[in-house]
Amino acid sequence: MLRDEESLVPLAGCTDIYVNLNFGTLPTKRFLNLWNLDPLRRIAMRGNVLSIGALATYTDLIRSPLVRRRIPILAAAAREVGGVQIQNRGTIGGNVINASPAGDTLPVLAVAEASLVLQSASEKRRVAFRSFYTGYRQSVRRPDELLGSVEIPSISGRQWFRKVGTRAAQAISKVVMAAVRSEEPRVALGSVAPTVVRLPKTEEHLAAGGGIQEARAILAGEIAPIDDLRSSAEYRLRVCENLLERFWRETA
Ligand SMILES: Cc1cc2nc3c(=O)[nH]c(=O)nc-3n(C[C@H](O)[C@H](O)[C@H](O)COP(=O)(O)OP(=O)(O)OC[C@H]3O[C@@H](n4cnc5c(N)ncnc54)[C@H](O)[C@@H]3O)c2cc1C
Repeated sequence: MLRDEESLVPLAGCTDIYVNLNFGTLPTKRFLNLWNLDPLRRIAMRGNVLSIGALATYTDLIRSPLVRRRIPILAAAAREVGGVQIQNRGTIGGNVINASPAGDTLPVLAVAEASLVLQSASEKRRVAFRSFYTGYRQSVRRPDELLGSVEIPSISGRQWFRKVGTRAAQAISKVVMAAVRSEEPRVALGSVAPTVVRLPKTEEHLAAGGGIQEARAILAGEIAPIDDLRSSAEYRLRVCENLLERFWRETA
C-alpha cells in the first residue's frame, strides 16, 4: 500500500499523530494502521544482537527481561515516557520516526550504536542510527518504507540515563542524557540541538583520561541549546554539564 500511495501516513500507537491531527498540521488524512502487525512487535535475540520490533510499546520494553538485561537504560527511558496510558500505546518506532529532538529513547539508541531496519515492498536495508537523522525532524527514511525494527548490539560498560523535565510524568524533556562508561565512553544528549547528538570531543577527552572539569567545558562547546517555552538555553547548558559530571561520578 505504501509503495502505491506514498502519502499514506503509517499509524502505530497514534500518540504523536493525534497531537498533529488536533493541531491541524498533518498534510494528509489517509492512514495505514500498523497496530495489528504482530511480527513488528517482537523482542528477541538474533545472534548477539537484540532486535526490538518497531511496534514494541514502552510497556513491552519495561516488561521485557531481554531489554532489562541487555540495555537497562532503554527500560529506564521507557518508564519516564508520558504516563501509563502513553506507555501502553506509544511505540519505539513512533518515537524514532517522529524524530523529535526531545524523544526520550533517542539518546539511548545513540549510545547503543543501534541500527534501524527499514523495509519497503522491494527491499530491506539497515541504517546506522548515527546516520539516520539529517536535520530537524528529517531522516533518510523514504515515504514507502516502514521502520521494521531497532537492532542493539551488545554494550560493554556501565550504562547511565537521566531525564530532566518539569515533573516525573507527562513532561517532555528539557534535557535527556544517556551514556556508557567504558574505555571509550559514549555520551548522547536530547533536547539541546535540532537532532539527538553524540559528543565526540567530550568522549575523546574522557577516553584519554582527561578531567571532568575540562570535560564540562568541552561539552559546552559541542551543543547549542535554544531558549523555548520549556526552558532557557542557559539552564539547559548548566544541567547538561551537571549531568555529565554526575554520570562520571556515579559510574566511577
Ligand atoms: C501526553 C503525551 C506525553 C508524551 N510524553 C512523551 C515523553 O515523555 N517522552 C517522549 O519521548 N515522547 C512522549 N510523547 C510522544 C509520543 O508518545 C512518543 O513519541 C511515541 O513513542 C510515539 O509512538 P506512537 O506509536 O504513538 O507513534 P504514532 O503517533 O503512531 O506515529 C508517530 C510518527 O511515526 C510514524 N510511524 C510510527 N511507526 C512507524 C513505523 N513502524 N514505520 C514508519 N513510520 C512509523 C507515523 O507515521 C508518525 O509520523 C508523549 C505524547 C503525548 C500525547
